[in-house]
Amino acid sequence: MNILVVNCGSSTVKYQLFRMEEENGDDVIAKGVVERIGITGSNLEYKAGDREIIREREIPNQRVALEWVVEILTDDEIGVLEDISQIDAIGHRVVHGGERFTDSVLLSQEVLDVVRECSELAPLHNPPNILGIEACQDLIPGVPQVAVFDTAFHGTLPEYAYIYPIPYGFYRKYRIRRYGFHGTSHKYVAGRAAKMMGKNLGELKLVTCHMGSGVSFAAIKNGVSIDTSMGFTPLEGLMMGTRCGDIDPAIVLYLMDKEGLDIQDMDRILNKKSGVLGVSGISSDTRDIEDAAPAEHRARLTLELIAYRAKKYIGAYYAVLGGLDGVVLTAGIGENSSYIRKSIFVGLDHFGVKIDDEKNTIRRKEGFISTDDSSLKVMVIPTNEQLMIALDTYLLVTQRE
Ligand code: AMP
Repeated sequence: MNILVVNCGSSTVKYQLFRMEEENGDDVIAKGVVERIGITGSNLEYKAGDREIIREREIPNQRVALEWVVEILTDDEIGVLEDISQIDAIGHRVVHGGERFTDSVLLSQEVLDVVRECSELAPLHNPPNILGIEACQDLIPGVPQVAVFDTAFHGTLPEYAYIYPIPYGFYRKYRIRRYGFHGTSHKYVAGRAAKMMGKNLGELKLVTCHMGSGVSFAAIKNGVSIDTSMGFTPLEGLMMGTRCGDIDPAIVLYLMDKEGLDIQDMDRILNKKSGVLGVSGISSDTRDIEDAAPAEHRARLTLELIAYRAKKYIGAYYAVLGGLDGVVLTAGIGENSSYIRKSIFVGLDHFGVKIDDEKNTIRRKEGFISTDDSSLKVMVIPTNEQLMIALDTYLLVTQRE
């Protein structure tokens, strides 16, 4: 079965074509990304085996991007399909499933209507996801499509973890609650962690740390998410590339008053000007911060904040999980930065954790970075949301047949 996985963002479309012979088959036969949609210099990157190309063309929107993807997949010279009818199913990443979707779902008009309703909760993310779904309905008609939600894995949060202590009427009226994001990533790495530890996921207490340009942690007990750091939006929680994470909400009111800021100004400050970029004043990319640290106090301070705030969440989740068997580090920072990984665990010896400096040099590969005698296991696991989407799509489509 050929499954096309599509992740339609506001300015990019990422795609992977999987050949799934069986549930565990995960052959990626082609993949790539269309970048700079709607702005100058749009291009398509395509990789299939050892063939790799980048082509430039004007791409005004997601539909044109997907037309191009279909064209290249079936190209006489470099394509991997003879005809588009060889695509058997399509899996879409959808950011917000609201309270309705706690699992992946086969797309129908009714489902799409609910996804559209959820756009109000994710105005930057769900609309391009919907455009991608509609474009695929037209370009590859009659093929089953599946929506895999970023929020779904956190649908198991207990009420006391998802209700905010603001007037309850706002939850009733606007569904203001913690939803959590990066769910597909947390679910994937938790499953891999259990395999690496040789244990059943159902008996483990894990903290999964997705640390990329967006950062979220999840507390996973017996295979289900019981708490997570992102909330009503992906702004809450850990400090991120340009997002502030947890701050005193009164700061927002104070700044709006003092600086005469409107909602858009404040939104830009919290989402685009804060976090690593805001504190360092250098860059949102932790590689630049690590490079600048020897000479710049604010770069060192930024690294201290990242580690300190990560440590606090691990401590909080240790408490809510009632112990901890493993911590997983994933995404750009988690998979690459030996320095940040090590600094998070400094001073956590009382949790039974010891980091092995040699093992901690690992990059973009699965491996333990804790010592063999560390009772708390720390693992690096590259995330693979696309595979997770392909697997869910495979399962839903084959169950339906
Ligand atoms: P992601 O959103 O998962 O693609 O992660 C991107 C972020 O990961 C970048 O903005 C960097 O902050 C971080 N990153 C990627 N590679 C490295 C590295 N080698 N060392 C430190 N941070 C890295």
